[in-house]
Amino acid sequence: MIKENLTQINNTLPDHVTLVAVSKTKPIADIQEAYDAGQRVFGENKVQEMVTKHDELPKDIQWHMIGHLQRNKVKYMAHFVDLIHGVDSFKTLKEIDKQAKKHDRVINCLLQAHIAQEDTKFGFSFNEMDEIINSAEFKDLKYIKVVGLMGMATFTDNQNQIKEEFTSLKSYFDSKKSYQSQNFDLKTLSMGMSGDYQLAIDCGSTMVRIGSSIFGVRNYFS
Ligand SMILES: *Cc1c(COP(=O)(O)O)cnc(C)c1O
Repeated sequence: MIKENLTQINNTLPDHVTLVAVSKTKPIADIQEAYDAGQRVFGENKVQEMVTKHDELPKDIQWHMIGHLQRNKVKYMAHFVDLIHGVDSFKTLKEIDKQAKKHDRVINCLLQAHIAQEDTKFGFSFNEMDEIINSAEFKDLKYIKVVGLMGMATFTDNQNQIKEEFTSLKSYFDSKKSYQSQNFDLKTLSMGMSGDYQLAIDCGSTMVRIGSSIFGVRNYFS
């Protein structure tokens, strides 16, 4: 089923959209099956789980950290993580920079924008992002690169609301595109999950994070 699901989703994705297969809570065998079907980019939301899976699975997998990040866990993945989607504080960005430096590498990051009408979703307001991007402290960070933005829409059936939220992030993204520096160059707009990725793509997403439509519903209690 995983292979068929992947084929079906890939057939609907435009060429400029990258698929992140969200494998959180799923066993190694499921990820291997997706890998054997050609998938190379996987997303996890817990550092320890990602580290275990990274150790056991083929080394050409690109691992994306998509969840809320605890600063004290950054060090465990700094040597291999390919992209961190959920950067939602300057302190976290500084910690990623510090840990990346130890491995003499640059870690690509996405700043997470708070676009949902919910208190539970993490992320910056656009003003807060502006402040960071324009700060002298940010310009000093040499071991991170902000390559894009990430956002999650409100969990609702109201398509218009979701569309508005995605569109607001796309507009902000576009307004910062010409703004390039050594550690800031927006290319990736990560928006869209199983329930809303088609709408997200219509609104300008270049990276979708899809879990349950590939691997089936998650059972957190197993
Ligand atoms: C779990 C998760 C997803 C995938 O959700 P599905 O609805 O299963 O596709 C996408 N993004 C983030 C940040 C997640 O935590």
